[in-house]
Amino acid sequence: MKIAGTLKRKETDDVETSTCYMCSANCEIHVHSRVAEGTNKKIVTEVALPDCTRGSAMIEHRESDVRLLNPEIRDSNGNWQAASWDKTIREIATRLNAVKDKYGPQSVAFMVGYTKEPRPYLQRLAYLFGSPHYITESSCCFGATRVASAITFGDDYGYFYQKSRMFQPETKCRMIWSNDTENSLLPLKKHFFFKETDVPMIVVDPRLTSLAQKADIHLRLRPGTDGALAHGLAHVILKEGLEDRDFLDKWCHGIKEYEDYVSEFSPERTAEITGIEKDLIIKAARLYAGMRPAQISFSPQATVHHSNACQNHRAVILLAALTGNIDIKGGNRKPNGVQEKDITLHDELLPKLSDPMGKERFPIFIDKYHEGQSMILSDWIERGKIKAIFSIGANIMMYPDYGRLRKQMEKLEFFSVCDFYDTPTREFADVSLPAATHLERESLIIGGDKVRYRPNVIEPRGNARADADIMFDLADALGLKDDFWGGDIKASFDERLELSGYKLADLPEKGKYASYDLGPDQERKYENGGFQTASGKVEFKSNLLEEHGYDGLPVYKEPYWSPVSTPDIAADYPFILTSGGRSKNYQHSQGRKLQMLRAIEPYPVMQINPIDAKKIGVKNDDWLRVSSPVGEMEIRALVSDIVLPGVVHAPHGWEESPVNMLIPDKALCDITGFPGFKSSLCQVEKLDSNN
Ligand code: SF4
Repeated sequence: MKIAGTLKRKETDDVETSTCYMCSANCEIHVHSRVAEGTNKKIVTEVALPDCTRGSAMIEHRESDVRLLNPEIRDSNGNWQAASWDKTIREIATRLNAVKDKYGPQSVAFMVGYTKEPRPYLQRLAYLFGSPHYITESSCCFGATRVASAITFGDDYGYFYQKSRMFQPETKCRMIWSNDTENSLLPLKKHFFFKETDVPMIVVDPRLTSLAQKADIHLRLRPGTDGALAHGLAHVILKEGLEDRDFLDKWCHGIKEYEDYVSEFSPERTAEITGIEKDLIIKAARLYAGMRPAQISFSPQATVHHSNACQNHRAVILLAALTGNIDIKGGNRKPNGVQEKDITLHDELLPKLSDPMGKERFPIFIDKYHEGQSMILSDWIERGKIKAIFSIGANIMMYPDYGRLRKQMEKLEFFSVCDFYDTPTREFADVSLPAATHLERESLIIGGDKVRYRPNVIEPRGNARADADIMFDLADALGLKDDFWGGDIKASFDERLELSGYKLADLPEKGKYASYDLGPDQERKYENGGFQTASGKVEFKSNLLEEHGYDGLPVYKEPYWSPVSTPDIAADYPFILTSGGRSKNYQHSQGRKLQMLRAIEPYPVMQINPIDAKKIGVKNDDWLRVSSPVGEMEIRALVSDIVLPGVVHAPHGWEESPVNMLIPDKALCDITGFPGFKSSLCQVEKLDSNN
């Protein structure tokens, strides 16, 4: 698709290849621009990009009237005052150093959300400053999926999920586990949401998504019962002899104990727990295990947004091992990609610092994911352990019990934000920095078999500045310039490229990919040295988990709040709340300031089944009051059978209806610290104001 800029495109315009970062897919784009007459400023005249609503708003994103364009410091009356970059950076350095002198460097946290591009630099800055608390939105996004895979298959399988979403012509059956692919991160052809491939498709999802409507079998489970369903499928596979016994005998650890455990999950019992008919469970198990190679596709976080996050995810991915679908073409593959040199100084500096946030409670997560677990941020501020935060692209709306965190944020002695727009997070800030958009900032992108340098095709508007440049300036103000490549960002790119064999200067024409030869696509790479676990095998029963006092087997536990685990709470909060289903118009809380996107999806809605809507007298667009034991919000209704009776779904990231007000921050997975965004309880009432 093509989108028009503020001036009409001319044949003589410059055309540059770049990448979009309206979400983190980094799709290739072609940007036409020229210097506007009578000025020395370049203006974008047209962008060619993939067919994508989020991406189509990128010019509005750059030109928006409500965009932040100046650094600002809050005055003693609480009002924002524009300031120069020099003054603002000095203010941040002075305030961070003051907190460091008073309480120690470990009382400062360095936090990053989107974009993800500045992450390695912020992590390095945190450690050089002396703080172990580098924290990101991965504390409730991809972290648990990666850690669960690493526990089960070894560290080199940490990115297992990514390859699970790639189309493979050899696949004979696809099982798509809680991934609303058509509305998710990458609406690209390489992802296989096409029923046209004519390969049988099983979709596991509590909601009747558009993908589920195309499925041969839709396993519509009660939210949070993924682990039980996986065990029920395993039970049938083992009972009917559909497992890959050779692979299990040779390459799996703890299979006998696992077999004993899943023998408890008969189709009848699994049906009772999950709400899925037993015959459908049997049919799905036979289809998945009987059509090899088969591929399970999942999302970075849907299976781990439950209070039993890690074991739920392990239960699901172990089905691939049970059927021998590991690292074979058409099955679930070990990822393979060009290596990026780690510039974070994690291994060099972190051992000399105090423990990162969450180490005591979630030691495996911290060790495997190399950052703090920030879902306990409210606790840490409340206990006086964090006094200041320097943040880039962070939005505290992502936290469970968001209402509690809002109260804690007021206790910080210093808080600095960097964003494109005003956000609920900025309300608590002392300093605000304006971020440059992807059209205005250079970046190095390393992933898969490609490396790419993205140029800034135009200069930042106003006084906006690229995140990485801000960190280089702050490092300088903190006396750390020598550790930040003497202030030369391109030198940092060269260091990050070291393992790829490229130098920045070797990369092809600006913005184009340089392909990297990864060698032959070898199957069963584990045969060469085994799996990187304690046993060298796939760990159905994890040695690492047992060493830390957890269940070694992927034991199923009910959600923290559910009609089964907490019937007393369910009596007052009878609806099962699932949240965070994706929208192709927005990524998380981003994009809500863009009129183009608001015109397509103007406000959030809570999906409620027609039977429930009738019971409480609600019709489409009526306002609802939704409450849980920790908070409440108001939201409009969408009456739809996309959800089952007794289940409601609300999207995340909406400032006007922040669903995370309802999610308890005590319901964290004991291994990964992940919250139960997708399986909780609430009450839903029609608001009087509708009348
Ligand atoms: S998927 Fe859309 S928003 Fe995301 S990078 Fe690609 S074009 Fe941009």
